Amino acid sequence: MRNIIFIAPPAAGKGTISEKLMDKYGYKHISTGDILRDMASRDDEFGHSLKGMLASGKLVPDEIVYEALKRRLLMNDLESGFILDGFPRNLNQAREYDKILDEVGKKLGVVIYLDTPKDILEKRIVGRRICSSCGATYNILTGINTPKKDGICDKCGSQLYQRDDDNSESFKTRYETFINQTYPLIDFYKKRNVLYNIDSINPDDTMRKVEEIINDND
Ligand code: AMP
Repeated sequence: MRNIIFIAPPAAGKGTISEKLMDKYGYKHISTGDILRDMASRDDEFGHSLKGMLASGKLVPDEIVYEALKRRLLMNDLESGFILDGFPRNLNQAREYDKILDEVGKKLGVVIYLDTPKDILEKRIVGRRICSSCGATYNILTGINTPKKDGICDKCGSQLYQRDDDNSESFKTRYETFINQTYPLIDFYKKRNVLYNIDSINPDDTMRKVEEIINDND
């Protein structure tokens, strides 16, 4: 099995699991959120307007996302498989994704839903801190992965920062968007017999269950 789509509310752990899968299986991690944040860091009108959209927690217009994703899927480093994270976010995008896959000659693979209670998600989001240099992530609210020194990365000593959209208000918008727009994908992919459901609370358990799915589909 080569390609995985994670359907998950914000902070359900898809980033952490993706990192582990990349290390172990050589998959590439394609996060539309990361691609868009990268585009938003450009110091021009487009970059600035994108930055505003991302900070609000609302979805970016489809056409921008499709173009960016297609460009990424056409790169020739995806032979070992890829993890798609943050896309598709709604039924339109899921239907468009079928067309994009045809265009770029890639397979859908399996779809994994990471099911996590809302209160846990909110703490993970509001408490999340990221290293500005090596990208390591920490949390100051959950008691898991607390940085030893306030605001400083344990691994490389650089400053930690908080993503613009990692606040309570943005979490509410992102969670509601997930329930209203992304959740219907579960039914969409269930009907195609490609969906797996995981209770994602403890990262180690989640990783174990994801690996079972990978092995079953090999
Ligand atoms: P994420 O890192 O996946 O939480 O995404 C961060 C933000 O990027 C989202 O709140 C949206 O504004 C934007 N974004 C990421 N993926 C998509 C997508 N598939 N469609 C529209 N907007 C997206």
